[in-house]
Amino acid sequence: MSASSTSNFLRKLFERIPLPVAIIIGVWAANGVLLPLYLQKWNSSSQSQVEVDSSALLEIDKGQQVPAVREKLPLTENLINFNSTAGEKLLFESEARADYLPLSIHFVTQTNQAFCGVASMVMVLNALDIPAPEAPEYKPYDIFTQKNFFNKQTDKIISAKKVSRQGLTLAELAGLLATYPVKTEVHHGGDLTLDEFRSLIVNNLGQTDNFVIVNYLRKAIGQETGGHISPIAAYDKDTDRLLILDVSRYKYPPVWVETEELWLATRTLDSVSNKTRGLVLVSDR
Ligand code: CA
Repeated sequence: MSASSTSNFLRKLFERIPLPVAIIIGVWAANGVLLPLYLQKWNSSSQSQVEVDSSALLEIDKGQQVPAVREKLPLTENLINFNSTAGEKLLFESEARADYLPLSIHFVTQTNQAFCGVASMVMVLNALDIPAPEAPEYKPYDIFTQKNFFNKQTDKIISAKKVSRQGLTLAELAGLLATYPVKTEVHHGGDLTLDEFRSLIVNNLGQTDNFVIVNYLRKAIGQETGGHISPIAAYDKDTDRLLILDVSRYKYPPVWVETEELWLATRTLDSVSNKTRGLVLVSDR
């Protein structure tokens, strides 16, 4: 059948169909042919809208000179990166490293930028093998996490929300730990001589059933920049350096810092408590 004879056939066919039926057939044809064409067009224009939006965001980033991904920050020369030949050697030659293994097994990254104290306490409670609450995300297993650490008892000291805003003072850190079956000993940096500071830490690092959490000013050891909290894992006598397992693992690696530098960094004033920073020693009750 040629094109013209097909057209004649259709014309004659439509002349014989009543008008309402012709209208229904017309609408059906429009839905079947025109609607898919319309939807295809709409989808392609939506996709290009997303592309335009994302490139616009990239332009904003460029304008503000904010890199899309920020790498870890560089270390100043006074610090020895644990993740280096020198850093590794210091651990193997370390005179006090009983705390390294249990802490490293439970080493975690703080879940927000103010949770350094919470992450440190979670590491220590797990390292001490204190009975942990249920962790719904790991059901049926129990382990301390930065979420289940908080409960009605800890809320009486300070809420998770408040910690997220302002971090923790040394007293709040010890107060939170005291809601669990552990003993704590608080030492403010301003109350300790360098020898006392060193001997408290080194004695502890040689014993397996207790741990040291340090609260110091980052700026004082050449890091960016405010108050910070992390566990100490080992001591090297020859270099007189302490290994900090820094819980802000997105920002800095663990570092070996000179004892005197860390001592000075704990003798800085915490503006929230108006007291110097320092140490909390934590042990089984
Ligand atoms: Ca210890």
